[in-house]
Amino acid sequence: MNEHDSERIAGLLEDDGYQRAGALEEADVMVLNTCCIRENADNKLYGALGRLKAVKAERPDALIAVAGCLAQKDRELVRERAGHVDVVFGTHNVHRAAELIDHARRHGPVVEILTETVRDDVEAFPSALPARRESEHSAWVTIQIGCDNSCTFCIVPAVRGPEISRPFGELVDEVRDLAASGVSEITLLGQNVNSYGRDLALSRRGSANGNSASAAGNSRVNVTSNGRGHAPADDDSWWCGPRWLADRRARPLFADLLRAVGEIDGIRRVRFTSPHPKDLRAETIAAMAEVPAVCEHLHLPLQSGSDTVLRAMQRGYTAERYLERLRAAREAVDDLAVSTDIIVGFPGETEHDFEQTLEVAAEARYDSAFTFIFSPRPGTAAADMGDRFVPHEVSVSRYERLRRVIERSSRLANEARIGRIEEVVVEGPSKKDPSVATGRSRRNTLVHFPSPDGPAPQPGTYARVEVTAAAANFLRGELVSIENAQAQAVAHSIEPARRLIPVAAV
Ligand code: SF4
Repeated sequence: MNEHDSERIAGLLEDDGYQRAGALEEADVMVLNTCCIRENADNKLYGALGRLKAVKAERPDALIAVAGCLAQKDRELVRERAGHVDVVFGTHNVHRAAELIDHARRHGPVVEILTETVRDDVEAFPSALPARRESEHSAWVTIQIGCDNSCTFCIVPAVRGPEISRPFGELVDEVRDLAASGVSEITLLGQNVNSYGRDLALSRRGSANGNSASAAGNSRVNVTSNGRGHAPADDDSWWCGPRWLADRRARPLFADLLRAVGEIDGIRRVRFTSPHPKDLRAETIAAMAEVPAVCEHLHLPLQSGSDTVLRAMQRGYTAERYLERLRAAREAVDDLAVSTDIIVGFPGETEHDFEQTLEVAAEARYDSAFTFIFSPRPGTAAADMGDRFVPHEVSVSRYERLRRVIERSSRLANEARIGRIEEVVVEGPSKKDPSVATGRSRRNTLVHFPSPDGPAPQPGTYARVEVTAAAANFLRGELVSIENAQAQAVAHSIEPARRLIPVAAV
């Protein structure tokens, strides 16, 4: 989500006439987009700001902006600790980046932190803003912002606010626009994608009661004077089509969204992150199984295999419930890859609790996992559990034991692919060897393969690759065939960026 916000901030600035600087020393504006989910975010931010002080001293006209969730949390404190910062803005007003930077250039430092996102403000959703995408073939699409859960280790609800879903039709329009511009792979983004639409039902009820909130996803987005937003489709057939409307349900489900975007011409891969295990519905699993474009990959965060720890984390499920849902997904979706997030050393975690995590991880047979040692995030409930903190050396040892379990299952899963043909979408040449292409399989595994006829194929190329070797984190293979010469042509035909005004001339 944070990287997606960065793309939007870059897009807004380009839209305002800026262009990307070749090096930090040349930049007239430096934006630090912070993420306080990361460990030591405070130290990293203020360390980076300390280093930028010298740049600012040398070029006082250069502007420094701090954005993101740490800015949302620290507010005025950012300028109190680093007086050379010119602009501070948070998670609810990313869309104001260019205006605030312009304001600072004309009138001096500005701190603008909003306490919540305005539901009907189209531009409040990162995806509704211009973007400078890092990839031409792959795009993120924000389907909701915020989170209504209260996991005790997590700062997201405090810094991103309650869940707000984007209207269904607007999302379908956006994906259609992306497909028309050459994008073939999309990742639907949300803190808890499976609860997508829950708030739309509430707003519809509010609307029925005379409340002015927009009706359940029916708000059509108009093109604004600066060209932002999405035009309604010419005919309404797309709008009457969704199953949830035909079924007269009060809200669209995430499964409906998967089906709708998965049917759009040109979209070959639909990914999503992250579903909360407690909200993984049978409808979502059915959509994954039935819509060919939805990739065979499920990221299902476990966090802990101990019911005691899960309760302390306020996760809302038990280990058995988690495994039940995982079994249901594996039974329904052929060849499903599963990844997860696990925290070790949560306050109060005993050796017995941790062994339960090892057991669940072994039973889940994860293809990959993000594993973390618990570290308190200021402002969360878990940060106040200091009397139950697990000694660091114990956490480190548990982390190593868990890593070995995960590595074993990843290696086995990857070795089982040897001899199979994988569809790989090329991301670019390998960093180590430009004649080797690197890409992702539908199951989201990294695949490296040499290009027999010169340089690696273009990013966005779909290739069929026979797997010849496997490690825990990647596959190696031989190119069998290139599938989409046409997609390469589309990528080349994308309109070149309009000429941007150098910042110095603004
Ligand atoms: S579901 Fe829990 S971990 Fe995920 S964003 Fe919400 S509060 Fe944080």
